[in-house]
Amino acid sequence: MDTLIVGGGTAGCVLAARLSEDPCHTVCLLEAGPVWATAARMPSALLDATRMPIDAGAPWLRTYPVTLAMDEAGHAIDGNIVRGSVLGGSGAVNGSYFVRATAADFAAWSRELGRSTTWTFDSVLPVYQRLERDLDFGDRPGHGRTGPMPVHRPAEPVPLSLEFAAACTASNIPAIADLNALPGSGPANGFGPVPCNIEDGMRVSTGSAYLLPVMFRPNLTVAGGMRVTRIRFHGTRAVGVDYVRDGESGTAWADRIVVCAGAIESASLLQRSGIGPARHLRALDIPVLHSAPVGAGFTDHLEIGIDYRLGREIPMPNAVALEYVSILDDIELRPYTVSFTPGDYRLGVALMRPHSTGVLRLRSTDPAAPPFIEHRYLSAEHDRIRLTDAAAAAIELLRRIPSARVRNPLPDAAGSDANMWLRANLATSQHLSGTCRMGTADDERAVVDERCAVYGVIGLSVVDLSIVPVALSRGPQATTVLIAERAAEFLAA
Ligand SMILES: Cc1cc2nc3c(=O)[nH]c(=O)nc-3n(C[C@H](O)[C@H](O)[C@H](O)COP(=O)(O)OP(=O)(O)OC[C@H]3O[C@@H](n4cnc5c(N)ncnc54)[C@H](O)[C@@H]3O)c2cc1C
Repeated sequence: MDTLIVGGGTAGCVLAARLSEDPCHTVCLLEAGPVWATAARMPSALLDATRMPIDAGAPWLRTYPVTLAMDEAGHAIDGNIVRGSVLGGSGAVNGSYFVRATAADFAAWSRELGRSTTWTFDSVLPVYQRLERDLDFGDRPGHGRTGPMPVHRPAEPVPLSLEFAAACTASNIPAIADLNALPGSGPANGFGPVPCNIEDGMRVSTGSAYLLPVMFRPNLTVAGGMRVTRIRFHGTRAVGVDYVRDGESGTAWADRIVVCAGAIESASLLQRSGIGPARHLRALDIPVLHSAPVGAGFTDHLEIGIDYRLGREIPMPNAVALEYVSILDDIELRPYTVSFTPGDYRLGVALMRPHSTGVLRLRSTDPAAPPFIEHRYLSAEHDRIRLTDAAAAAIELLRRIPSARVRNPLPDAAGSDANMWLRANLATSQHLSGTCRMGTADDERAVVDERCAVYGVIGLSVVDLSIVPVALSRGPQATTVLIAERAAEFLAA
């Protein structure tokens, strides 16, 4: 094999499809979860965009216990997060919100890379255009209309979404018709319909958009049910992987290995293979191949849920979970169309550029054991202040929705009462990123270089959401596709 890809998720499917465009280049993709040969064989639950197929026990999910934050007394606030373990990965089970990161995000990303222009907004814009087939605005400047990923905004929003939009208008919040529009072409802050990777009511993952249409290629092998347990090295050169399939172990060899296992599993796999914080690896008796800050300083978008009731009946037709959002700098307001508790509705208040960062470490050398994941949400005072203010503004906005009554009002006093309230209503967006962050060779926090190659070894790259060195101001799915498209350019060169 020329290239062996670990993980057929959002990024892995893109990369396998792009690299195998060259018929002389052999590509093998190993995916831990189930794989189907055609979209028609995929379970309908994965295709129905009006529900997220993340019920406990679903065969295409992996669940991880996490510590979200610590309470005032120093006790852990625990929770669970999930990831799609299936062709298409988390993109096959997610909320289908497909929005670009901002020009400011890429400016921040580029600052991490010194003088490099590899990840400036101008460099990545053609890639965003190439990957999308925007069914609403494809002909507008800065957009694409021939790419694999469909992008469509809700044509007939449900009444709850329309009430939120009306409340925004009544609060003088400007409307943004296209959240993926070029910077400067409209207001930066405002509310608007969510761009979704949905076509004909169906969720379109990179599995169905990129990989399934090219499965026939003779130079492409895709195997499901293959959990990679360790990367093999000759010296410092990556030469293969160990895997387990149906309880049997085996080894696959390749000229180079690209890890696309997602921010949790890519970091875990690197650590199990001897690339990680040396002291931690030694404590687990893992021989250290290269000491690196794998798993340190990750970010995720924390969310505070404001629950409310309406003093009247409102029709709730099936819809994508989020049809509208409102953006105010680093805050995203999410009026969910689904009820989390019968009779209650939720407005999510998400902090998109948190200062708090988390850490991921192996629990044991057993590949089946989930790693320790500590989000350390709300540990930075900046985040607590920002979210308290944003929650107050969100509750004010809810007053504009007729007969809406907030179930968990913010305490009047600031300080510890407000902090307790934040902790009591804390949730996560499931956007964990940056466990194998990109940076310059002299950056002590960096794991990969600007072309996604892992420092300290040869023939090993990480290509997925792990590599993002900054908190993105928007949901990460579209940018994960972009990362894989961009990395395919580097790896094909
Ligand atoms: C429930 C949920 C809802 C979300 N909603 C949104 C949204 O609406 N909008 C948005 O922008 N973002 C959303 N996200 C986040 C977004 O989906 C992810 O950030 C993105 O898909 C990550 O892509 P990835 O390629 O890094 O990883 P993934 O897509 O998770 O892919 C990783 C793949 O690697 C495989 N794998 C892992 N370990 C191994 C191994 N050892 N051997 C072989 N294969 C392995 C996994 O099975 C999986 O298929 C959501 C995430 C979740 C979980």
